[in-house]
Amino acid sequence: MARSVYLAHTGGTIGMKRTAKGYAPKPGYLAEHLAAMPELQAPDMPRLAVREYTPLLDSADMTPHDWERIGRDIVAHHDQYDGFVVLHGTDTMAYSASALSFMLEQLAKPVILTGSQIPLAEVRSDARENLITSLLLAAHYPIPEVCIYLSGQLLRGNRARKVSASGFDAFASPNAPPLGTVGVEITIAWERVRPKPRAEVALQPLLEVSVGALRLFPGITAGIVENLLREPVRGMVLETYGAGNAPARDTALMGVLEAACARGVVIVNCTQCLRGSVMMSYATGQALQQAGVVSGHDMTPEAALTKLFYLLSKGLPSQEIRHLVQQDLRGELTSIV
Ligand code: ASP
Repeated sequence: MARSVYLAHTGGTIGMKRTAKGYAPKPGYLAEHLAAMPELQAPDMPRLAVREYTPLLDSADMTPHDWERIGRDIVAHHDQYDGFVVLHGTDTMAYSASALSFMLEQLAKPVILTGSQIPLAEVRSDARENLITSLLLAAHYPIPEVCIYLSGQLLRGNRARKVSASGFDAFASPNAPPLGTVGVEITIAWERVRPKPRAEVALQPLLEVSVGALRLFPGITAGIVENLLREPVRGMVLETYGAGNAPARDTALMGVLEAACARGVVIVNCTQCLRGSVMMSYATGQALQQAGVVSGHDMTPEAALTKLFYLLSKGLPSQEIRHLVQQDLRGELTSIV
């Protein structure tokens, strides 16, 4: 039977048009170009339902409302299609993919986010291959996960980071091997793919929760941190040095963190390093633990931040969020047993 894929076009470079002010999204423009692609009619290609969002966004303009909108759209069509491709700007794609991986509970179909560094309409674009391969993956490979596909690599969405502003290989997942590689063959590492859930797909909506992120730097003061942790902030991703270290000799700063944790703010320790995990094994890391900061293990800051949005939106008590944030919910962290 012919396969079918739901293609949600949210914006991003892939569908942009060159204008006097630089590349900008233009309604209907992508559809025109899709209609002119004979390869979409090939026998292997799925039947497409294309939905263009209004307004089309540069992903730098996206907010948690947009994640929710995409999530709702997928849940509403979940049972009618074999898979989903979301065309999305690359700038915040790792955030959207991470958020969707948490919000789409019991997802049973592939959701592939893709985009490009050069618009589809341009001669030297990387969009064509990204789009065609994503459609084939969504149609024929029943991976029940939110993924990012670009430039030959299928990555788990909540492990991915944008690592290049100009290369076609814009994404990497430094702490997890790819779920698939695409060259002459499409090879899926099925042993790494998460099992298909039995229950029905459901969307966890996001509440108006205040979540922040802070990257430590030499010279940071207790005052700066205190300001960032003020009410109504409920969660914070703290990007620390190396294996999870902070300036522990600054007792004022440590006191601010401790007071926030005691108030119920969930502070998650993630490393600034691209690769590796938080261990909090140095004295400078243990001080954070003593202050009440919890380990983000090897989560990306994007995954940790969106996980906080997700868990806080569930309205769980702070203690439970502190526990769950350190657990592997969607393959976003490597649990150390
Ligand atoms: N600024 C664009 C966006 O994220 C970049 C891209 O799509 O690659 O929407």
